[in-house]
Amino acid sequence: MNTLNLNGNSVPFELGQTILEVARVHGVKIPTLCHFQAADHKGVCRICAVEVDGADRLLPACATPAAAGMVVVTDSERVMLARKLILELLVADGDHNCLYCESNGDCRLQDLIYEHGIKQAPVKLPYQQRPIDDATPMIFRDFNKCVLCGRCVAACNDVQCNDAIPYPYGRREEKPLPTGWVPLADYDRCVHCGECVQACPVGAIVEKKAMGLARPWETEKIRTTCPYCGVGCQLWLHVKDERIVKVTGVEDGSPNKGRLCVKGRFGYDFIYSEERLKTPLIRENGSFREASWDEALDLIADRFKDIIAKHGPDAIGGVSSSRSINEDSYQMQKFFRAVLGTNNIDNCART
Ligand code: SF4
Ligand code: SF4
Repeated sequence: MNTLNLNGNSVPFELGQTILEVARVHGVKIPTLCHFQAADHKGVCRICAVEVDGADRLLPACATPAAAGMVVVTDSERVMLARKLILELLVADGDHNCLYCESNGDCRLQDLIYEHGIKQAPVKLPYQQRPIDDATPMIFRDFNKCVLCGRCVAACNDVQCNDAIPYPYGRREEKPLPTGWVPLADYDRCVHCGECVQACPVGAIVEKKAMGLARPWETEKIRTTCPYCGVGCQLWLHVKDERIVKVTGVEDGSPNKGRLCVKGRFGYDFIYSEERLKTPLIRENGSFREASWDEALDLIADRFKDIIAKHGPDAIGGVSSSRSINEDSYQMQKFFRAVLGTNNIDNCART
């Protein structure tokens, strides 16, 4: 069994694990900011710096493989000073005013600043206005709040594979960062999936429709299944006063592991549409009239009986909606097979 020394304790680990992974398994907290497991994105921000015996500098826990016999300290004075310095430099650059930031209460930088007891940045770097991108209906980008962690770049290019946010942020070590580079999206490639929104740990990329509607502590998170197609992606509905203010993917939920498409993330307005059908409609003489459920179901049953009597059960076919849950689709196929007596049953999961 491989072991290393973590904060004075001998702990086992699996070959291939990083120091961060070993620490997490053993309940030792190491802060992260840029680390993005889904894309194996790491080693940019250095907030996870730890002290390793024999190393001439602090090492990033997220990108350093654990090794047998290693002696690691995660919270020494030197480590804490380095983390504070990194955080102070991050807030010294750009515009990080939580009062008017959409992500106040849901910001990794804000949490880290608080946890590390930073009261104010000791220096303020010369302010350089960075781009604000308000060009699309769904996503608002304000790079004055960006901490250049690269998570949005990895999310777009390596997770969703849309290649809409140009490198080279993740290739920083191979290619010097061009002056003034920010992760602007290329809208010829962007599919508005919002993966970059979900990946951004600060308020630099946010859902435009949610802006100004609710602070995170005012919302209740309700888990549900996306109503659009048969994949069944898991969603968090962020709800305030019984209205959805935004939707995010459930990071540890299968099958999507936090990923969503444009419909699942942004297409929930139909719920509140005045044009939604609220009662059954029966067509008579070429136009529809409202009916009760009892009347509509009786009519359907009578018509089914007529058709089966005249042409047999295979004259009937059913298509279950992809917006239905599995249980409803199961019941529908049972009804068609066991009650009506036909195998003509399908699902319209073709999108
Ligand atoms: S919305 Fe999706 S495709 Fe567009 S930039 Fe963000 S991650 Fe890339
Ligand atoms: S926009 Fe957000 S996710 Fe992208 S680099 Fe900046 S802080 Fe990181």
